[in-house]
Amino acid sequence: MKLTSYQGKVSRVGADKARTTVPGYVNPRGQRVLERTGARSTTFPGQVIYRLKCKDCALEYGANGCDIHARTCPGCQSGSKGEPLVEKPAGLFS
Ligand SMILES: [Zn+2]
Repeated sequence: MKLTSYQGKVSRVGADKARTTVPGYVNPRGQRVLERTGARSTTFPGQVIYRLKCKDCALEYGANGCDIHARTCPGCQSGSKGEPLVEKPAGLFS
């Protein structure tokens, strides 16, 4: 069985994809990832909403995982309106 090498390939892809979604990541526009909210995106099925914070105006807003790398601030960079931020359900996954 070649299961070991197959799993190695999958985890490399996953690690690369996850780089922009780790808390602390700052994209080229100065938008920092604060946390994964766990809420489902309202515009991209299958995507999860992350809480981002602008370094310039400190606005916090929601963004899809796939949008983080190119996100601009809706407050001071004329970015598109963010995804709604909802509070995490208490105690479910924490
Ligand atoms: Zn801003």
